[in-house]
Amino acid sequence: MNRPEILRWLREGRPSDLKTLWSRADAARRKNVGDAVHLRGLVEISNHCVRSCAYCGINRAHRGITRYRMTAHEVLACARQAVGLGYGTVVLQAGEDPGLRRAAVADLVRRIKKDTGLAVTLSLGERDDGDLVAWKQAGADRYLLRFETSNPDLYARIHPSLPGRPSDRFALLRRLRALGYEVGSGVMIGIPGQTYESLADDIETFARLDLDMIGVGPYLPHPATPLGRGGLPLLPAREQVPNTELMTYKVVALARLVAPESNIPATTALATLNRTHGRELGLSRGANVVMPNLTPPRYRVLYEIYPGKACVQETATQCGFCLKERIHRLGRHVGAGPGSRRRSASALPA
Ligand code: SAH
Repeated sequence: MNRPEILRWLREGRPSDLKTLWSRADAARRKNVGDAVHLRGLVEISNHCVRSCAYCGINRAHRGITRYRMTAHEVLACARQAVGLGYGTVVLQAGEDPGLRRAAVADLVRRIKKDTGLAVTLSLGERDDGDLVAWKQAGADRYLLRFETSNPDLYARIHPSLPGRPSDRFALLRRLRALGYEVGSGVMIGIPGQTYESLADDIETFARLDLDMIGVGPYLPHPATPLGRGGLPLLPAREQVPNTELMTYKVVALARLVAPESNIPATTALATLNRTHGRELGLSRGANVVMPNLTPPRYRVLYEIYPGKACVQETATQCGFCLKERIHRLGRHVGAGPGSRRRSASALPA
């Protein structure tokens, strides 16, 4: 898949032609990662954050929310629940929270591994090298860090650096790989100021980084953020990528075609745009992973990175049953074990 082709698909609007894209992506998914859908239980362990990301509802400037940090005991209970529900992985996600201290997170990872044997994925933002080293040694398997956009000017506008600490997520992704983590990244789709050219760059970047996981979702405006209040001007309509469901499916499908063996979730942000079929359509157009939420409901409502998140009212058990139902109805099955990225010599980007 070359760049002109990527751009052509991103601009394609005819449903009959898009069917070709969906079926190519679905065939590449089946051939390279099979019919298993891996379930990763998501635990949102803290909504404290030192960053001022212009898109994110838990950024530090948002004073209107109650901040929480789960105890190790609470997180472990969620991990045990993940085992009970048959998930292979637990994902610990948070704002960038220095209160999640190196030793405490390392201990937590060790205990989860020892008690449950689950694969552990961390998504804790841009942390010191010493943290990343310690957590790998403690047994963490994977790290998720989206680069959000490959356009450096747009990135600088939406993701301000901390004083004296330039934000270089590409350098961090390389470092995570060198440390032995499976590495996941991705972007938001339809950020104000995101052009088709820059989204095509993002998709080419997925392949170049040889990512193990690729997470993409629509940008969803949060009214309490600079971006949600209209802080960045939209480009002329011809240039601006829309933050739509359709555009998200296209990027999921293209991600599958450029990186055929990677694990690609049908994200909650996608399910938020289409509650009844978003996840299924994502799974039929290239995705092979779902991340059911395990965060206790009283915290879940406070982890509001964007408003109206799907499934925010459901208990972990309801969420697990509902997803398994949906997966079976698609003729697919729940993946057993950790669902690590497969690597075969034969997979070549389409
Ligand atoms: N602090 C961690 C985790 C952030 S939340 C980190 O920065 O990596 C995980 C992802 O949610 C972010 O990487 C971003 O891509 C997405 N996100 C945040 N705000 C969003 C919004 N308003 N709409 C859609 N996705 C959003």
